[in-house]
Amino acid sequence: MSHMFVPGPVDVAPEVLEVLTRPVLPHRSKEYEEIFHRVAKKCEQIFYTKHRVFIGTHTGSGMQETGIRSLVKKDVLVCINGAFSQRWYDVAVTNGKQADRLDAEWGQPILPEKLQEALKDKHYEAVAIVHNETSTGLENPLKELSAVVHEVSSDTLVLVDAVSSLAGVKIEMDAWGVDFLLTSSQKCLALPPGLSLAGTSDRALKKAESVENRGWYFDLLRMEKHRLKNTTAMTSAVSLVYALNFQLDRILAEGLEKRFARHAAMSKRVYEWAQGHGMASFAAEGYRSKTVAAIKNTKGMDIPALNKFLLEHGMRIANGYGELKGKTFRIATMGETQMEDVNILLQLMEEFMEQ
Ligand SMILES: *Cc1c(COP(=O)(O)O)cnc(C)c1O
Repeated sequence: MSHMFVPGPVDVAPEVLEVLTRPVLPHRSKEYEEIFHRVAKKCEQIFYTKHRVFIGTHTGSGMQETGIRSLVKKDVLVCINGAFSQRWYDVAVTNGKQADRLDAEWGQPILPEKLQEALKDKHYEAVAIVHNETSTGLENPLKELSAVVHEVSSDTLVLVDAVSSLAGVKIEMDAWGVDFLLTSSQKCLALPPGLSLAGTSDRALKKAESVENRGWYFDLLRMEKHRLKNTTAMTSAVSLVYALNFQLDRILAEGLEKRFARHAAMSKRVYEWAQGHGMASFAAEGYRSKTVAAIKNTKGMDIPALNKFLLEHGMRIANGYGELKGKTFRIATMGETQMEDVNILLQLMEEFMEQ
């Protein structure tokens, strides 16, 4: 097995890949509906919700679009401090919404007091927040941000992209008052790309009833109608759902708390190693991601050359995102990655640096 320390798609366990070879069932069959029902129940556990989790046959960006199309008539505030929150803003604008932005410098968190000010100036139907900015290795203080939204405005929905953190870091959807919480299969869930999940509150569905032009494919109310019958409006990605079912059993067998602790320990190891070599984290202290570390490339390492060297050993890391290319590099520690793998990677990186 290769070891991809990139923030998605990540390595998938061979036994999970094997599940993909099982015979495909018709999505409108009793057998499949039973599997679909069981998977949805397990999803509720990893989302810490009693509401519902939709399983989409598209990547996480499709769920960003679903949230915007189904839950916002006009006014949405998007918190932006990285490439994926910028994408969510673009999704809102290209869907014709009146999107406002609350910006923070890349590498700096969205601060609750700043959000509070923005919400006092204008009423928003929804606030969109990226929990873990994969481009900068930064975790926004989601629990506090969500609390601020509820404090200032009782009918503003909290929409959260947790594509690179859900199932890797604890996010308590119901307890934190998150209305729409989305993730993709190919990151912390360590599945092949192609599925996305979205926990959705009753309050959010109620709101969708008043939103016109929700479209067809990304309409939460259509999804709910079919979910209640343990199915989907369109063909389900049957094989990927088998894999999700199997992988959720593996995740729950490891134990969510143990999984979160494993990721926290591995990322800590990476930050300490980098610090020891005079390289700081790109994200501000106190807000560093536990699933993907973005490190300032102060040693001026040639990242493509480093990856060429690592690939000889079946490993790879990620270069910085967009404008951060060459200025930072990223080491993801999500999914199936174990501390032994991290130790081997860091040793190889030392060898490369000594060359
Ligand atoms: C990867 C990523 C996305 C994009 O997800 P896709 O599954 O590729 O559509 C969105 N948001 C964040 C935070 C990500 O890390």
